[in-house]
Amino acid sequence: MKIGIVGTGMVGSTAAYALVMRGIGSEIVLVDQNKSRSSAEANDILHAIPFAHPLDIFSGDYSDLAKCRVVIIAAGVSQKPGESRLELLQRNADVFRQVVPKVLEAAKDAVIVVATNPVDIMTHMASHFAGQMGVSANRVLGSGTTLDTARFRALLGRHLDVDAQHVHAYVVGEHGDSEVLSWSSVTIAGLSLEEFCEVRNLNLSTQDRRKIEQNVRQAAYQIIQGKGATYYGIGSALARIVSAILNDQRAILTVCGRVEKIGGVSDVTIALPHLIDGNGLVDLIPQTLNEQEMKALEVSAAVIRNAIDSIHI
Ligand code: ADP
Repeated sequence: MKIGIVGTGMVGSTAAYALVMRGIGSEIVLVDQNKSRSSAEANDILHAIPFAHPLDIFSGDYSDLAKCRVVIIAAGVSQKPGESRLELLQRNADVFRQVVPKVLEAAKDAVIVVATNPVDIMTHMASHFAGQMGVSANRVLGSGTTLDTARFRALLGRHLDVDAQHVHAYVVGEHGDSEVLSWSSVTIAGLSLEEFCEVRNLNLSTQDRRKIEQNVRQAAYQIIQGKGATYYGIGSALARIVSAILNDQRAILTVCGRVEKIGGVSDVTIALPHLIDGNGLVDLIPQTLNEQEMKALEVSAAVIRNAIDSIHI
């Protein structure tokens, strides 16, 4: 099963490495406008294969994406000194205007997984350009808050002293400052957070909650401050999303996809728990949020929609 990655900077190449380490797919093609970079990354990762899983990885052109089941798009430009967020967004929109049709011309049936930030807006654009080629919205999704959800579950698991895999907790909304931690819908072993704490005789104070929330929200800032970029977490999240698609797994992940309406906001791409199969998005699973969380989700949807409205696509 063939996987393509367009944009082999830190995020794209770490996703490739994570796929190889986990043995996901059988062939990985790396494409970048900087061909010496994609070729170097492909060679470097190829040399890890004898220590991992027997799959193939090489660099190529868009035409080499033919027959890919999934293509990750992690291509993008970084902020120039003095450039506004909006100007950067416009330049990334221009990258996607170029890249998305080329990907879909070569990989006609692929599911597109967008990783470029701001991911909700870039996924909306990808779905717009794909739509112009007759590709349905379910075949375009973004990494959304998959990583934020993992951070939330990891921190809750640590505090509750339980394997994070058994903590069902979601971060929804924008992958960014307005994201919403849905505390009210957390469950562990079928119990609510409060019930689990009672049964286990644990204390989760308002201050503990605030600390967990802050660590989830500030994670990217802290990492960027310390090492300039984040890529291991997102690379692993992308590998997880790709495996759910390739295995037609019907997994539930907080990827972002196009949603008709959230409160008063129409046609917005936002992260919510989505059921995913081999063809991409199947459906979103509505959340039972409390009133405050619901309001925050609507604000988050408006933040994304305003950003979409501010650019020319
Ligand atoms: P990140 O940390 O998000 O991975 P990088 O700047 O490291 O960001 O990587 C972005 C990659 O996207 C770079 O390797 C760059 O060459 C690539 N890229 C930018 N524009 C295009 C484009 N139009 N087509 C293909 N690749 C592109």
